[in-house]
Amino acid sequence: MEAHDAVDRTAFPAGARTAEPSAAWLAAAADDPAQAYTEWGERGVALLPLGRRFDAVRIPEVLVRAALRAHGTVDGPMVLDPGNGMYYALVPPQSTETWACAFGACLGRGAHLGVPHPSRLGPPGAHWVVPPCAHEPSVLATARIVRELIELGRREVEGAAAVPREQCGWCKEETGRPVKVGLIHGGSGGGGDVHACPGCVAAHRLMALADHPADSDGTPRRVPGRS
Ligand SMILES: [Zn+2]
Repeated sequence: MEAHDAVDRTAFPAGARTAEPSAAWLAAAADDPAQAYTEWGERGVALLPLGRRFDAVRIPEVLVRAALRAHGTVDGPMVLDPGNGMYYALVPPQSTETWACAFGACLGRGAHLGVPHPSRLGPPGAHWVVPPCAHEPSVLATARIVRELIELGRREVEGAAAVPREQCGWCKEETGRPVKVGLIHGGSGGGGDVHACPGCVAAHRLMALADHPADSDGTPRRVPGRS
C-alpha cells in the first residue's frame, strides 16, 4: 500500500487543475493561503475570512429553489451547505454596508465562510452549485442581482402559500388555481369547500360559489348556458 502524501494535489477531484486559478484567487483571501490548501486537502472545505475578496449572502434553501422554479438564474458563484440548508452567494466585499433585504443575511468583515475547493461540485458536504469562473474568478454576482433572486423566491413562496393546492372534484387532479364552486354539508358539523380546476370550471360550466344566488345551499351548479 502506498502512503498518502500530506500535501498531494492529486488528492483533489478531477477538474482540480482547471479550477486552480479560482482556488488561488479564493485562497488569497486568507492570511496564509497555504493553510487554505491544507484544509481543502484534508476536508475539501477551507475556512476563509469574509470582507476581503468577497462577502457572502446567506439565503435559505427554500427561497433559492422557489426562485429557480420561477426561472430565476444564479448569476455568480454560489455555495450550498446541505448541513444547514443554506446557500451562500459570493458578492463584492463591503456589500454588507448597503445590504437591505430581510430574507438574506449579508456576512462580511469579521465573519468566516467554509469555502469548498472550486472543483467540489456536489455533495457530500458544502459544495459549489455555481463555481467561480475559471478564467475570471474575481467576477462575482452583484448584491442587487442576489437581492432580486431572493425577492423572486419570496414572491413565489408567498404566492404558493396564498393559494393552497386543492383537489378538483371533477378530474380529481390537484390544482394550484382552485375555484371554489360549492359546499359540502357534513353530517355532524363537518363539511368543507368543493373545488374545481380552471379546466373543469370551463369544461363543465361550473358557477363560482361567490356567484351562487342568495338562496343557494352550496350544491355545485352550472352557469346557465345557451347550448
Ligand atoms: Zn379538474
